[in-house]
Amino acid sequence: MSLGDMLNHTASDVSIHTDHDNPFKADAGKEVMADVLKKITDPYLLFQIDRVSSFHGYLSTGAFIGIQMLNIAKRVLDAAPGEQLYVTCETYNCLPDPFQILAGCTIGNKKLKIKDHGKMAVVVNKKAEVGQKLARSVRIMLDPAKTAQYPRLHEWYMKTCKVSHEEAVSILIDARESVYTYEIMDIELQEKPEKCIALCINCGESFVRKNDEALCLACIEKNGVLKE
Ligand SMILES: [Zn+2]
Repeated sequence: MSLGDMLNHTASDVSIHTDHDNPFKADAGKEVMADVLKKITDPYLLFQIDRVSSFHGYLSTGAFIGIQMLNIAKRVLDAAPGEQLYVTCETYNCLPDPFQILAGCTIGNKKLKIKDHGKMAVVVNKKAEVGQKLARSVRIMLDPAKTAQYPRLHEWYMKTCKVSHEEAVSILIDARESVYTYEIMDIELQEKPEKCIALCINCGESFVRKNDEALCLACIEKNGVLKE
């Protein structure tokens, strides 16, 4: 396969293998989703969905929830267009992707953190004002007390029944933001510690030293295994 072919291997191809085991079913799913999305009249939301779908591989229910959470956060925090946001996602599932592709919060630039608590929730904050240690933030969660009013969405959320992404997204479009609960708070930002590089006395490789340990984390873990 040439590089050109690999680059041409588009996200829409990927969805066939990730979300559905049967390519014919996947195509049918795509058509159903296209129909579902016809209900949306906001061109900006459609633009967001388009970007997230190609980045994530397809429009999963969780990815759509992430888009709605981002939009709530931007409104509640009164973020200017293009203003840099920081996010902590409380799950690895789907939610991080809309924040990566739409808000530029990535693992690499440290504007995306993941606390894997397995919760459909995010905490979003703005940069602190110069000289301030507190930053305005909002925690948004998909609230089970509210999804309970939409039985099929609730079944998807609680995994008590197999509900397709097309059906769940359709319900979320109708429910708009009524299924979320959010809380605004000021969070204290921690000072960035100075980065210190050391050479591990065991493997000789360089590593970022957090305290004054002499071994890199890999060697500490290996030693831990040996001791047990
Ligand atoms: Zn080492």
